[in-house]
Formats: sequence, structure tokens, C-alpha cells
Amino acid sequence: MKGNFQLRILTYAVIAYMLLAFSWWTVLLFQKNQDAYRAKVELAQLVSAAQGGAASVKEFRNSGAFRELTDNYKRQEWMILGESIVFVISLVIGVWLINRGYNRAIFAEQQRRNFLLSITHELKSPLASIRLTLETFLKRNLKKEHQDKLSVNALKESERLNTLVNDLLMAAKLESSYQPVPEELSFTHIVLETVDKLEQKYPNSSFDIKGEEQALKIKADHLGMQSVIINLLENAVKYSFDEPNIEVELKESDQNIQFIVKDTGIGITDQEKKKVFERFYRIGNEDTRQTKGTGLGLYIVHEVIMAHKGKISIKNNHPKGSVFKVELPK
Ligand code: ADP
Repeated sequence: MKGNFQLRILTYAVIAYMLLAFSWWTVLLFQKNQDAYRAKVELAQLVSAAQGGAASVKEFRNSGAFRELTDNYKRQEWMILGESIVFVISLVIGVWLINRGYNRAIFAEQQRRNFLLSITHELKSPLASIRLTLETFLKRNLKKEHQDKLSVNALKESERLNTLVNDLLMAAKLESSYQPVPEELSFTHIVLETVDKLEQKYPNSSFDIKGEEQALKIKADHLGMQSVIINLLENAVKYSFDEPNIEVELKESDQNIQFIVKDTGIGITDQEKKKVFERFYRIGNEDTRQTKGTGLGLYIVHEVIMAHKGKISIKNNHPKGSVFKVELPK
């Protein structure tokens, strides 16, 4: 980081030097042009006087030769000015492009680092927990009740690993060759199924579903729709406070179905609203962040929705939280 900062300062110093040097050359060129003009005028005047032409300065200044020299001088002045402006503009555009590329590279590097840190944690912690459970089973004779509790926990952890691996596979597929395989689905059914699972996984959370009575049908990719629904609903829980209360709305129009998820959680600032759909993007920093995740969820959601020619938007919920609205063609 310190190296980057020094490199940046050095780059700015070189650019400032180039700009100053070029301004100075421009001033010098103006002066030289002016000196050359004066010398040419004097010479032309002397030649004219010697050849018996304009004798006085006033007479010479009315002559065609003087006008030609002056026009030429003015043209050259404009040329110097024009070229300086083009050079400065090119330099500024070049610097801007380099800076943008540099910032993007730094950002991508940061995202990759965050991803590696989070994926390591996400893979290690359920594995460690499952291993510990199995070791406990081996070493001790546990009561049935205790055994059940540990087994349920290990199952939850393996489910977490499964979700993670599915996300990784889906992300890899989206990168290369994702083609939705459309089939007739009950969107409402997938939502209800997912809500059930999440209520078990997060016993403190509650879901208020509006429009569940109308069984929304859609022709879409089953796995893709599952990913969209689980990621949006689980995020709503993950990024809410102690007792998440999530509002889910299902609607339909002639051509579209709408799936709206409202939470009252930490919210997303306007600056971050677009970025959260980028691969590996997670708000904040991996060293300080509390919530588990890989930054793949919303990327998957966005790509799947785009592959189905749908739309997704994020708005602020009032007084706090976020509203994710998905529109999918039937
Ligand atoms: P993650 O695995 O980190 O949850 P996502 O791609 O699903 O990855 O989300 C990207 C980031 O967007 C999250 O890290 C979080 O900072 C932010 N985010 C996603 N959903 C919400 C939400 N409902 N409320 C607030 N922030 C959210």
C-alpha cells in the first residue's frame, strides 16, 4: 500500500514536471517567434529601403510585405497555441486513462484478496466444525439427545458448504457458458420453500409474504431461479439486525412477474448500489467485516436475471434497510 502511494506521488510529480516544462517551452516558443518576426520585419524594411521602396517605417508598415510577415507571425502564434492545447489535452486524457486503469487494477486486486480471505474462512469453518463433531462421536459415548444436537449442527454446516460450492460452480458457469434451461416453474412455490428453509436456519427471522395466494408461474431455469431467490432472501436476513423481519412481495402483470424483498437492515449507500453486483464485491473490508459471505451472491443474481432478460434494482427502504426488486418476463 505504501509502495503504491509512493508510486502515485512519483507519477504526479513527473506529470506536474511535464506540464511545467511544456508551459515553459510554449512561452519560449512564443518569444522566439516574436524575436524572429521582429528580425524579419527589420530585415525586410532594410531591404525595401535599399531597393528604393518604402523609406520610412510608417510607409513600410502599410506595405504588402509587412502584412504578409504579420499574417505569418499570427498564424504561427495560433499554431503554437493550438498545439500546446492539444498536447495538454492529450496528456490529461492519457493521465486520466492510466489513473483509471490503475484504480481498476487496485480495486480488482483488493476484491481478489477479499475473496481469498473469505473463501478460506468459509471453507475452513464448516469443515472444522464437522470434523470436531465426528471426533466427539468417536471419542465419547454421548447421550442420544446430545448426539442429535451435534448431528443437526453438522448437517447445517454441510449445507453451508454445499451452498458455497453451488455458488462457486454457478459463478464459474456464468463466467463461461451459462445458458438458462427454461422449464415451467411455480415461482411462488420456490419462494415458499426457500422461506421455510431460511426460517429453520435463522430461527430469529420472520418473513411476511404478500401475494402468495396467486401461484406465479414462470418459464425459467430452475437452478437459476433458486439462486436468485435464496441469495436475495438470505442477504436480507444476513444484513439485518438481531431479529430480521423481511417483507416479500409477489406480483404479476401481463408480461412480467415481480419479486420484491424489503428488509430493515443496514441498508446500501447510493455509491455502493451498482458495485454490489460485481463479482467478489463486499462492502467494507474482510479484516473487519463480521458477516459471512464471498461476494458472489448478488453477482450470480444479476447475471442470472440478465440471462433471463429481466431487471433488478435496489432502493432504500424507509426508515432503514433496502428494497430489492426483480422483474422477470414470464
Ligand atoms: P456476500 O456473500 O458478501 O453476501 P453478495 O454478493 O450477496 O455477497 O453481496 C455483496 C455485498 O452487498 C454484501 O457483502 C453486502 O455488503 C451487500 N449487501 C447485499 N445484500 C444486502 C442487504 N440486503 N442489505 C445490506 N447490504 C447488502
